[in-house]
Amino acid sequence: MTLGPNVSLEQTLQARLQERKDQSLYRLRMTTKGPQKPLLHVRGRDYLSFTSNDYLGLANHPLLIEAMQNAASEYGVGSGASHLVCGHSAAHDELEQALAKLTGRPKALLFGSGYMANIGIISALLDKSDAVFEDRLNHASLLDGGLLSGARFQRYQHNDVLDLQRRLQKTQARNKLVVTDAVFSMDGDQAPLPQLADVCTQQDAWLMLDDAHGIGVLGLQGGGTALAAGLSVDQAPIYMGTLGKALGCYGAFVAGSETLIDALLQFSRSYIYTTAVPPAVAVAALTAVQLLRQESWRQTHLQQLITAFRAAALDMGLPLMDSYTAIQPLLIGDADKAMKVSQALRDVGILVTAIRPPTVPVNSARLRITLTAAHTQVQVEQLLATLGKLQQSGLLTRAL
Ligand SMILES: *Cc1c(COP(=O)(O)O)cnc(C)c1O
Repeated sequence: MTLGPNVSLEQTLQARLQERKDQSLYRLRMTTKGPQKPLLHVRGRDYLSFTSNDYLGLANHPLLIEAMQNAASEYGVGSGASHLVCGHSAAHDELEQALAKLTGRPKALLFGSGYMANIGIISALLDKSDAVFEDRLNHASLLDGGLLSGARFQRYQHNDVLDLQRRLQKTQARNKLVVTDAVFSMDGDQAPLPQLADVCTQQDAWLMLDDAHGIGVLGLQGGGTALAAGLSVDQAPIYMGTLGKALGCYGAFVAGSETLIDALLQFSRSYIYTTAVPPAVAVAALTAVQLLRQESWRQTHLQQLITAFRAAALDMGLPLMDSYTAIQPLLIGDADKAMKVSQALRDVGILVTAIRPPTVPVNSARLRITLTAAHTQVQVEQLLATLGKLQQSGLLTRAL
């Protein structure tokens, strides 16, 4: 073994890496070529992919590509500075207005990514006199934001409104923020939004929704889960969504009252101290927002694929989870076994990612199947037929 210049650094890291490998938790990247689409080109072979979050198939849409090309001619490539210096363009402004309108909120503010939005929002709203309450299965960026804020940090049982209520009743904190994924990223199930909003109103707590997997897909014309659940700005005052999943671009936003947006603009460090996303990306995202309405067949087609997949998988006795969204995980349990199933699918040309701890709790490794509007019914049938074969060979059973 060759060691680098700093022996203790190399040894420490190598020991940690070996431990990951021993636990079947070591991760590798797959290098793709060409655009994100159901037939994904990896190392000389086309795979049928059920792994991306490009739920509406917009990432490779000709109108988005054209919009971005034209915007690059108009604006150039880099934004040159942060929003508060000189990086905030008319393109960013227009996109913020479109996102506010789409989500039915007075104002919106763009962030560089969903991760940055979440750490920046929570840490701007709370400090050590406050308390944050997070669903146990919240996305890592929400947990990190809560920890970064310095507020007292509690995780409540997944989607358990009573557990949350008990915790809220007990706290002496000055301000209380309740934070939840609206659609859970690794499970695909949805938070009980009306009940959460009621408890927050009752207990004088603020509700923050992360709609990374709902924006564009759920609600009237893709306006997201808060709209779908009929939650007003008062009931769900802090609504966050991303532009890198169903909207096919990159970046994120928060939508809410004028006061909220002004406060985040003043206080959110991951908004202030970072370069604005390229204007051409903002123009592409604006085009995506417009397409939600113009090509609403995408939401309908996706919903049809979800319904068909679930019906067939239930019939076959596959270990489906309680999800009615584009995220349709099959629960396997053991991380090593999940890897084997994923590899067996890959051997026959189908890509489905095995999701393992620490992304999900121990013994809940799963195959995270995602469906998109770019898939055809035939492609979904192909996936089901292959899963059926793995099931017959005894590989695809739940083992806890
Ligand atoms: C993907 C995701 C994020 C992060 O968004 P990025 O724009 O990819 O940084 C945040 N929250 C949830 C629930 C997500 O799934």
